[in-house]
Amino acid sequence: MKFSGIVLHDSNCPTVRKSGYDFFVGRDGLVTPSNDFTDDDHLHVCVEGDFSHPIPSWEYPQVREQMFSLVKLALRLASLFEFDPQAMIAHGDTCPGEEFPWIDLKVRVGRPPH
Ligand SMILES: [Zn+2]
Repeated sequence: MKFSGIVLHDSNCPTVRKSGYDFFVGRDGLVTPSNDFTDDDHLHVCVEGDFSHPIPSWEYPQVREQMFSLVKLALRLASLFEFDPQAMIAHGDTCPGEEFPWIDLKVRVGRPPH
């Protein structure tokens, strides 16, 4: 298997509802793999939540946990399938929603904690 990167979705995505995902990152940070790969070229990761409106402050700790799991997953997949961990792209203009914390993610992906 050879993948060139990761496509990110949120769970509000109609495509994900229709054709699924390869990995699901829950609000609790738990990662669930699916049985089959959905695409030959990219891994599809679905992040639980609707990021089309601002994240309420009481959800910050959970979302931070979730982003941490997502970064760990991305780093593992990148080393397993030998692609650049920065090769993480949004599915489209509205998926994930515009409030998705990309900044958090890019910094951590670029600079792993260890
Ligand atoms: Zn999507």
